[in-house]
Amino acid sequence: MTPPLTWYHATASAPERDRLIGDRSCDVCVIGGGLAGVSTALHCAERGLDTVLLEAETIGYGASGRNGGQVLQSLSADVSVVERQVGRDGTRMFFDMAREAVEDLKDRAARHAPDADLRFGYLHATLNERQFDGMRGVCEAWQAWGYAGPKMIRGAELREWIGSDRFMGAMVDPESGQIHPLRYLYGLARGAEAAGATLFEHSAVLDVDGTVVRTAGGAVTARTVVYCGNAYLGGLVAKLRAKVMPVASFVAVTEPLAEELAAKLFPQDVAVADCNVALDYFRLTEDRRLLFGSGASYSAITPPGLEGTMRRKIARVFPDLSDVRIDHLWGGLIGITINRIPDIGRTAPNVFHAQGFSGQGVVLTGLAGKIIAEAITGDDSRLKLFEKVRHLPFPGGPLRMPALVAGMAWVKARDWLGI
Ligand SMILES: Cc1cc2nc3c(=O)[nH]c(=O)nc-3n(C[C@H](O)[C@H](O)[C@H](O)COP(=O)(O)OP(=O)(O)OC[C@H]3O[C@@H](n4cnc5c(N)ncnc54)[C@H](O)[C@@H]3O)c2cc1C
Repeated sequence: MTPPLTWYHATASAPERDRLIGDRSCDVCVIGGGLAGVSTALHCAERGLDTVLLEAETIGYGASGRNGGQVLQSLSADVSVVERQVGRDGTRMFFDMAREAVEDLKDRAARHAPDADLRFGYLHATLNERQFDGMRGVCEAWQAWGYAGPKMIRGAELREWIGSDRFMGAMVDPESGQIHPLRYLYGLARGAEAAGATLFEHSAVLDVDGTVVRTAGGAVTARTVVYCGNAYLGGLVAKLRAKVMPVASFVAVTEPLAEELAAKLFPQDVAVADCNVALDYFRLTEDRRLLFGSGASYSAITPPGLEGTMRRKIARVFPDLSDVRIDHLWGGLIGITINRIPDIGRTAPNVFHAQGFSGQGVVLTGLAGKIIAEAITGDDSRLKLFEKVRHLPFPGGPLRMPALVAGMAWVKARDWLGI
């Protein structure tokens, strides 16, 4: 028997779906069955569009079935970066859209995936004064834009939130949280099918000519094509590939922890991420396992001794867990853009794409699907705002990996030195 890809795959079930055999036509053909593709298919089908989705492997094979399950109510980019790109009015819209995206996720989870274990409460934990000051800046900016929820804590108050001496402070964000992302995705897929969409698995798109999409088994002639392959799309569309860097991140899931120990480490049951660039992110699953992610690696190779590395990282945060058993270990590719704002737009009037969610795709993919469906059905005002954002190609051409590895080594060293 093939072992499950991840702890998520071991704890969620989905029907097997057909591969595409033969030719067919439709209004919208979505390429990629992650959260972005399935959300797009759901929104399009709900608007009455005849929608076909083609997934190369199985639904949730990519980042959407491998991530940390952290529900983040913001863009990955600093508000100041967004403001430089789209001005004050645009930033207002972006800020409101990011909040809307969390509300949509709550609604979608309640309707399609009540088993997805959605929980709220989040700590952006800081390791030093530099990070604390930076996070305070974020907290104040969010409050100035109208989100009163976040607050800064440190010292004794921090210990009420997390049982670790590694951190000196944190921003508490009550409207971010955690979810079982694969059960959520499977629920969205069921919803899309109930609304009339057809989802094919094991149907890798090999070639696209205008809006004719070909797999090994057949072809789909569509009015509109939407690319949602993100970091897994490879070289299918050179223009899209250039703007997204696949970055590997790794996740370990431990054996279930004793109730008392789990309550000591997570007294408020929040999800946590630190503020390093190559950050650690972690939370407790519903069966009290520690789900601990860490990255990022700009090399495509799985690091040797990964289990030992993850164990050391876990022990650095929670020394009580230095001997804990690791039951699941996997890696996945995050698609990042240079400015960390998602790349959502068009490469032709009826060819759309959504990619580069930069570590915040659990929430923002839903927004992408909604905005693309709006544009396909005649209202592209919100898509145009995303299209205003300049997404530069990653520099270095074929050499971009070595250049980034070198750059990342410096960033990691800086985080390690706490400067
Ligand atoms: C380890 C890890 C941890 C992360 N943690 C978090 C987190 O805690 N919170 C958060 O918000 N985000 C997180 N992310 C990022 C988040 O998972 C992604 O932003 C999100 O899942 C992207 O969804 P997607 O649908 O765009 O891409 P994917 O989920 O990667 O889906 C793309 C799909 O397209 C398919 N595909 C590609 N090419 C073709 C083709 N030619 N034909 C057919 N199908 C094709 C692939 O097989 C794949 O299934 C994490 C990512 C990773 C890898």
